[in-house]
Amino acid sequence: MESKRILIVGGVAGGASAAARARRLSEDAEIVVFERGPHVSFANCGLPYFVGQEIPEKEDLLLETPESLKARFNLDVRVNTEVVAIHRESQELKVRNPDGQVSCEHYDALVLSTGAAPLKPPIPGIDRPGHFTLRNVPDAERISTWIDERNSEKAVVVGGGYIGLEMAEQLQRRGLRVTIVEALPQVMNVIDPEMASPLHAELDRRGISVHLSDGVSGFEAPAKGKQAAASVVVLKSGARLPADIVVIGIGVKPDVGLARDAGLEMGLLGGIRVDAGMKTSDPHIWSVGDAVEVRNAVTGLWSLIPLAGPANRQGRIAADNIFGRDSRYEGTWGTAILRLFDLAVGTTGASEKLLKQYDIPYEAIHLHPQSHAGYFPGASPIALKVLFDPGNGKLLGAQAVGQDGVDKRIDVLATAMQAGMSIEDLGELELAYAPPFGAAKDPVNLAGMMGQNILNGDVTVAQWSDVAGLDPQESFLLDVRQPGEWEKGHIPGATHIPLPELRARMHELPEDREIVVSCQSGQQAYYACRILSQHGFRCQNLTGAYLTWKNGTDKA
Ligand code: FAD
Repeated sequence: MESKRILIVGGVAGGASAAARARRLSEDAEIVVFERGPHVSFANCGLPYFVGQEIPEKEDLLLETPESLKARFNLDVRVNTEVVAIHRESQELKVRNPDGQVSCEHYDALVLSTGAAPLKPPIPGIDRPGHFTLRNVPDAERISTWIDERNSEKAVVVGGGYIGLEMAEQLQRRGLRVTIVEALPQVMNVIDPEMASPLHAELDRRGISVHLSDGVSGFEAPAKGKQAAASVVVLKSGARLPADIVVIGIGVKPDVGLARDAGLEMGLLGGIRVDAGMKTSDPHIWSVGDAVEVRNAVTGLWSLIPLAGPANRQGRIAADNIFGRDSRYEGTWGTAILRLFDLAVGTTGASEKLLKQYDIPYEAIHLHPQSHAGYFPGASPIALKVLFDPGNGKLLGAQAVGQDGVDKRIDVLATAMQAGMSIEDLGELELAYAPPFGAAKDPVNLAGMMGQNILNGDVTVAQWSDVAGLDPQESFLLDVRQPGEWEKGHIPGATHIPLPELRARMHELPEDREIVVSCQSGQQAYYACRILSQHGFRCQNLTGAYLTWKNGTDKA
């Protein structure tokens, strides 16, 4: 194998993966990793849990050290060492060493895995003491120290995305009273609003107040009072939130100063442009992870995907390509999961919002199956949404929220989607089943069967968002639940005929209007639709029925 000098900038997810893979492909290569922080290969995903003390020791986050990487992989890892420039013509890096001296390092191949930096918009007062972002172990330690030293009681988390929600959960675990401020009308913007609604309810149940559709207009110094206070967070609505600590988690942007200064081709989203082998516009430079733009596998558009799985796999792919192997990164599905107290929320592929935005035709189905056999103790409902192409049934996206079994369903759906399967194929999947784990018809199978019913014309569906716009001259809303369920709450304007009475009371239904049938979760309504359509009625099943409608219309 040809001997190369491979330099890697960034020693965490993508960089460490690239380095370790490169060593496995070549015992001869000289592999040097430059990391400007004090730690290499640390668990950034574990940082919020360290702040909340669910991960008790900092050492638990430090997966490797320069010494362990030297011993195991013969890597030359240099921490506290910042790469300050790339000289592409001479294939050299300018490096600031821990002693402040600047040196030059030649490379045959260079991998940039410089990650992403937290966004910090120029809001007045954003840099006040007691304001933090979270990217690395020193950030997490600073947050912890601030809380300890000042006995912080009130936290404001700005941003309701992954990191904001994880931090809200963990700060509350640490004993703080937490408020989340989110400029959009929902938390977790990557999912659709009706799927975010259970998260709002969970936050409410846990005593975390959430200000939605409200941005921060400024951070002011507290007028007087206890020394612990960091700021008064002033919202655009005029609300004023005193905070002992503020965590800003409004997203990240690719950390690409080096690449840009070196004249590498950049994408429109601000990431480094790479090909499927993770090679940049320079034949000697590869780039991976949060710093690059990759293709969204559903829309085909360039996208930024700051997630650990893609970074790790891309690191491996870059190393493969450096050694002449034809490994390819075929695009991102954005598969992700988050725990929020008792709930898990997972997503893969495109959301309905995204499909709408890009005019991609889709059909959406909702279901609310139990996480495992209902008769076995401990079952809990999962809200599951699956999006597919109405022409050929190809899977386009899925989202799930629930207490249990969300990870399994999202991973099965992600795998199916990446294998190019259709919604109909889901009905045929043979999945592991015993009562504590699933059902003989797993939620994923049920989604497939619902899709089959739609594609073969057995039923058409209406969406929760259609209900408000139904014209009573054209449509008739029918609820076929049992009286007890109806009495607990129903969609305004609906007519109630329980399913067992439907055949006898069909004469009460208008023949000249579309009957939109609802129930609790959609299954009884499907049965009703089958009855009605065979009796000549035009009928639509309100997919996900009352539960989805309620999630979609509940005000947080
Ligand atoms: P990083 O892992 O961030 O590594 C980049 C490194 O490059 C940094 O350490 C930086 O110091 C170094 N660097 C940058 N410039 C230079 C330079 N000029 N010289 C030397 N070194 C440099 N993803 C998930 O999939 N699931 C999760 O649950 C999850 N949770 C997260 C929680 C938090 C708090 C954070 C911050 C991220 C989380 N992520 C999660 C995202 C995930 O950590 C990133 O997508 C992943 O680490 C990206 O890998 P990377 O190699 O591109 O960048």
